[in-house]
Amino acid sequence: MNKVVTRIAPSPTGRFHIGTARTALFNYLFARHMGGSFLIRVEDTDRERSKPEFEKDILDGLAGLGLVADETVRQSERVDRHTELLKELVGRDLAYVSHEESKTEAGKTVEVVRLRNPGREVTFHDEVRGDITFDTTELGDFVIARSLTDPLYHFAVVADDMDMGVTHVIRGEDHISNTPRQILIQEAIGAPRPVYAHLPLILDEKRAKLSKRSGATSVQDYLDEGILPEALVNYLALLGWNPGDTREYFTLQELVDAFSLEGIQKSGAAWDREKLLSVNQHWMRELTTDAFITRGNLTAPDEKLLIESVPLLKERARTFSEARELLSGELSCLFTKPELHRELLVAKEPTERPGMTETALESLQEPIKSLPEGISAEVVKESLMPFADAEEAKGKGGRGAVLWPLRYALSGRERSPDPFTLIAILGKEETLSRLEKAVAILEG
Ligand code: GLU
Repeated sequence: MNKVVTRIAPSPTGRFHIGTARTALFNYLFARHMGGSFLIRVEDTDRERSKPEFEKDILDGLAGLGLVADETVRQSERVDRHTELLKELVGRDLAYVSHEESKTEAGKTVEVVRLRNPGREVTFHDEVRGDITFDTTELGDFVIARSLTDPLYHFAVVADDMDMGVTHVIRGEDHISNTPRQILIQEAIGAPRPVYAHLPLILDEKRAKLSKRSGATSVQDYLDEGILPEALVNYLALLGWNPGDTREYFTLQELVDAFSLEGIQKSGAAWDREKLLSVNQHWMRELTTDAFITRGNLTAPDEKLLIESVPLLKERARTFSEARELLSGELSCLFTKPELHRELLVAKEPTERPGMTETALESLQEPIKSLPEGISAEVVKESLMPFADAEEAKGKGGRGAVLWPLRYALSGRERSPDPFTLIAILGKEETLSRLEKAVAILEG
């Protein structure tokens, strides 16, 4: 077999779409698995709708996902070659220039180039769906170019795939109905027929085609939300393909090793945001502390405390935007001294035991002082729990009557991590200073 050549052929008429990313990924994986080449062809022949900023978004997005191409070309730079091929077809009477009334401007005559359609059944084999047959008669002599220098999509795709030596066309299922037309053009210009594999649609949670209405469809939106590129790649690979075993987490290289066209499914692939988030959390947890902070763009007033809070963030956040929210919300108490309110400190104090909160917070100070530095939340819990239990043994209020004011004194928040975690991160000195402040408020 010839060396495998695949391509992604995005039109820069919108931002880099998640569906395009999935198609690009499958083309990349197949080419790399087979030791072939993966090409990018920017299909910018629609001059009005193509925009440089979309081209940049798509190319940056592909690079960001690690889908590095062996070559990148722009379709608009190949128009001379398209013209040459169109003239050749007209010269051989396989196509003709026709002067017709404009459909958009009454009374105006326009020139178009039409293919002489032999009008017959076309059968092609699709690696995913098997043999597919279309009767092309009703297409008539369809238009392949607006003029000899302005090819339309079907013609440009076929000409470019031929010249670039594309052996496998892997693309979305919405292109199945374009394939018979493209095969007729191939036959006219003498291009070899590539292997086709049409990928199942990506469906949203309501089983409709994924669209803006179903949520974000732009790759950059997911990256901005703090989904890691390696997580997006891992998740997209499983949208319509399965490795034939139960593995869920793959690096790009592991995907290259495992990929095959046989693993592509026919039925629609359901978008599952929960799954995306859990794959992302997996890859977030794999990062070292330093990488977690830099790749998540995480900042906090105190670098040391930020480092200490990474395990907590890994436990709770499924995206980096969630991690940032935690740092500025629930975990902000780590970085700024809490502002305490007496009513909240004593909120769980049993009426039968006035002053109990103050005594409890005082009695915790000694055991906290004797904790060694730098110990885990579990060890803090083991050391302090007996004191909370001793208070409970005195009756009324239970452990909560001790643990609530302790947690609140340390965090100043009604919601925060548990007090043992806070102590482990804050360290002894800061913990004791916050407790003293709470006791002072209770005394005052
Ligand atoms: N430019 C086409 C698109 O954006 C892709 C053409 C193809 O893959 O054959 O959908």
